[in-house]
Amino acid sequence: MPYSLIDIGANLTHDSFADDLDEVLARAADAGVERMVVTGSSDQGNIDAAELADAHPRRLYATAGVHPHHAADYTDASDELIRSLTIRKSVVAVGECGLDYFRDFSPRDAQVEAFRSQLDIAADTRMPVFLHQRDAHDDYVRILQPVLAKIPRAVAHCFTGDADELRDYLELGLYVGITGWICDERRGLHLRDIVGEIPDDRLLIETDAPYLLPRTLDPRPDTRRNEPLYLPEVLRIVAKARGQSTEHVAAITTANAVRFFDLD
Ligand SMILES: [Zn+2]
Repeated sequence: MPYSLIDIGANLTHDSFADDLDEVLARAADAGVERMVVTGSSDQGNIDAAELADAHPRRLYATAGVHPHHAADYTDASDELIRSLTIRKSVVAVGECGLDYFRDFSPRDAQVEAFRSQLDIAADTRMPVFLHQRDAHDDYVRILQPVLAKIPRAVAHCFTGDADELRDYLELGLYVGITGWICDERRGLHLRDIVGEIPDDRLLIETDAPYLLPRTLDPRPDTRRNEPLYLPEVLRIVAKARGQSTEHVAAITTANAVRFFDLD
């Protein structure tokens, strides 16, 4: 086996995996992607993610949270559900949660409220938090900063921002998750210039499958669906951009993921 990688963000409860998840997991294992954290982003998605993780102990883990797109649906029951799921051994972080002013699928005040509530859960339960942010940097930092001291660890998942945003995040003490966005020659090239600024002990890698199929794959798969199988391609581009060996980046990102999520 070439590596022992951990995909910290895979949306494996997505419909597109309903028919062949076992094969997806087997292909991932063959490629050295031994463990995956299934992203929870809605009430039903959180239940599904936790059940999936429970069915694959030490292979799959889950997060529990409500994505800013679904913030308008965030209720007391959503809050209770997340709190109850954090007790499970397979659930390793609160999120994904945060702000998304790019799409604005939920009103901004609802996004802020759902974000604050979930940060409170992370603080109360002493769980790490899995964060999403797009086009909302200033509000996000303003909300996050005062509560971070009460939260053990936080990751800016699928980082796509610029050098200034990256520096702010590192100053806040965040871990940074890099996806196949860095492989995208149309919109991700700036990440190759700045990914080297992330210290070895703060870097994480993820696919965000089924989204963000790495565009550097050669040959290009004949599907648009991304899978954890392709995490080594993200690893390869990140390592090249950082001027480090893939073995080194594999080792540090796996160690960081184990520490971040407190995996067994
Ligand atoms: Zn996200």
